Amino acid sequence: MRILVTGGAGFLGSHLCERLLSEGHEVICLDNLFTGRKRNIAHLLENPYFEFVRHDVIDSFKFEVDQIYNLACPASPPHYQYNAIKTIKTSVMGAINCLGLAKRVRARVFQASTSEVYGDPLVHPQPESYWGHVNPIGARSCYDEGKRCAETLFFDYHRQNGVDIRIVRIFNTYGPRMLPNDGRVVSNFIVQALKGEDITVYGDGSQTRSFCYYSDLIEGFIRLMNKDEVIGPINIGNPGEFTMLELAQEVLGLVDSKSKIVHLDLPSDDPKQRQPDISEAKAKLGWEPTVSLREGLKETIDYFRNEIQL
Ligand code: NAD
Ligand code: UDP
Repeated sequence: MRILVTGGAGFLGSHLCERLLSEGHEVICLDNLFTGRKRNIAHLLENPYFEFVRHDVIDSFKFEVDQIYNLACPASPPHYQYNAIKTIKTSVMGAINCLGLAKRVRARVFQASTSEVYGDPLVHPQPESYWGHVNPIGARSCYDEGKRCAETLFFDYHRQNGVDIRIVRIFNTYGPRMLPNDGRVVSNFIVQALKGEDITVYGDGSQTRSFCYYSDLIEGFIRLMNKDEVIGPINIGNPGEFTMLELAQEVLGLVDSKSKIVHLDLPSDDPKQRQPDISEAKAKLGWEPTVSLREGLKETIDYFRNEIQL
């Protein structure tokens, strides 16, 4: 197949492009390089079945493709809050442009949605049936509401125009190719521990997240995209739940670092707890994660060790 991946030069997008090429597909990677970088895809540029297009998803585009994966959107809070209006435009107009193209060329189209659609959840763990608890006017809203609106657009194009959609709700995912200055917790803690700098725990560190290794997530993407009867939204994430203090201790132990833990202010609207209910993914896709937090962190630490020596 010929497949378009928006956000294909980012952390997850570049791994997805690599996986699709390894399965014999032709891949068009569209990215404006806001948080992505050419280095993530440099090893793919020589491949005759890979094409990089520097373009913004808010501007229209047209390609003859069989499938579209829409991943374009900054994912880390400091990056998506840097230009909040641009973030919501990216989610909403990017979704409209992908859906319009899918409608014209009759492609199947996949949306990278997020556990943020559940906001600061009052139901725990979060099943897909939970409608969420999201602040519509806070610092995180440009991302959360942008992604919620994108889900709405996907379902409206599906109901109104018969567009063949897939939606995955991604829970915190980490791994090689994250930027050292990404700002998300796993990369921050690892880089701080490797440099011997203070580990910045926001708030008292009792808030929880559930961390999925990138390779497990990509496997979930492929299964959902190539399953005929399941459109989602479907949670993909690792149900192992940790407090941020536990994560800090784990990273400190694995890096064997002398860094100290310091506490900084908790950002506004920071969700207190998060854990995916993955019964749907297990039952409908036969998917569950296989990489433990410790294994995934070790691989990610090796990657950052090389990265920050550059
Ligand atoms: P990332 O920031 O590494 O990747 C996003 C990519 O999109 C980057 O390459 C960036 O340059 C590109 N991009 C941003 N705005 C664009 C625009 N207007 N036009 C074209 N390209 C644009 O982040 P990631 O972790 O790889 O996330 C990929 C997708 O998965 C995002 O949509 C994100 O919301 C979603 N997601 C990720 C996680 C996670 O934990 N990694 C969790 C939930 C959802
Ligand atoms: N966090 C932290 N220190 C950091 C970065 C993040 O304690 O240096 C916390 C943050 O407050 C949140 C959790 O880690 O509670 C996950 O943050 P991240 O930005 O990775 O993802 P999200 O909040 O979007 O799930």
